[in-house]
Amino acid sequence: MKKIKRREFMRTTGVAGLSLATAKPGVGGFPNILVPGIKPLVISSSNGNSFKNGGDVTAVQKAFTMITQGADVLDAVIAGVNIVELDPLDDSVGYGGLPNADGVVQLDACCMHGPKKRAGGVAALEGVRTPSLVAKAVMENTDHHLLVGKGAQEFARNMGFKIEDDLNTENSRRKWLEWKRKIDPAHYLDPKKRAEAGRRATLEMLAEGRIREENLHGTINCNGINSKGEVCGVTTTSGLSWKMPGRVGDSPILGAGLYVDGEVGAVGSTGRGEANLYGLCSFLIVEEMRRGRHPKDAGMEALRRIKANTYEKRLLKRDGNPNFYVRFYILNARGEYAGVAMYDLNDNGKKATFAICDENGPQNVPFDSLMQGKHSE
Ligand code: ASP
Repeated sequence: MKKIKRREFMRTTGVAGLSLATAKPGVGGFPNILVPGIKPLVISSSNGNSFKNGGDVTAVQKAFTMITQGADVLDAVIAGVNIVELDPLDDSVGYGGLPNADGVVQLDACCMHGPKKRAGGVAALEGVRTPSLVAKAVMENTDHHLLVGKGAQEFARNMGFKIEDDLNTENSRRKWLEWKRKIDPAHYLDPKKRAEAGRRATLEMLAEGRIREENLHGTINCNGINSKGEVCGVTTTSGLSWKMPGRVGDSPILGAGLYVDGEVGAVGSTGRGEANLYGLCSFLIVEEMRRGRHPKDAGMEALRRIKANTYEKRLLKRDGNPNFYVRFYILNARGEYAGVAMYDLNDNGKKATFAICDENGPQNVPFDSLMQGKHSE
């Protein structure tokens, strides 16, 4: 990735000229929230600092620049994730996201505006490349939080979004066909055998390096804060690859894949949605921060809870620990942040990282992790 020099970055973002924010008393039991001198910051999953969709900037750079130029924080983080949604090279989000078991790309997203205390989401949406923008339209134009399936698509059509027949790219279709061919059609009548065959085919493809773990599960969460301490967040995904048609994970569910409290902070997740949903962990982390815990400690509490709630054998490694990953991207309303992960390594054995962008420019930072090693064996 082309590195932007710090001085050039500060000039283009106007960070050098930031003034102190207005101090406001804390609300909701969270002390000294809007304190002077909050530094704008954007935090996201690592794909927020790797894909550019043919342009010059990544999601976190785009969002940070917009925030420092005075844009609404939600508009900024959504403009950031749009880069990843539209980039066919990221096959875990938006256009070109890996499809469901029937070969259909179904997308989930939600967004939440801290100061406005409003949120919107879509699930199992087909045919729109940027589900995050449809989620924002749900927030702005309806009295509801979540629209799903055909209803979400009809709403998007009515709002002027282009509906496409198929969001597969050559890459996503090829990988799906490969997965499909590995499944023995004779097993189709027995749902248990079908699920086993599907899992085996997926593991084979992972072992052969045909798909990457981050894409099997894969999502972008992006949260931002401006110098006034205003926090907003967005999460968008194609969900679990080869999922059962209609399956929805944590990403579009408030409190799970995303939660924002304007006075406390913003949290979003990637990884095994089902595990996160049992504890509504983004909400849990916000509540832990409200009680005064640092983002890192609040995040660790959620990871411990997920670990303790995982006791089914099929979800455990031989050592008794979870055989999946869950990661949280956490920002409080003072501008303090943390990225926390169940394990410190990616499936390829390399250190797992999340992305941030502040006045020093974009960078990838290793997670604080609950456990050492990989989630797979
Ligand atoms: N959390 C997403 C889901 O479960 C996928 C992921 O981020 O890996 O749908």
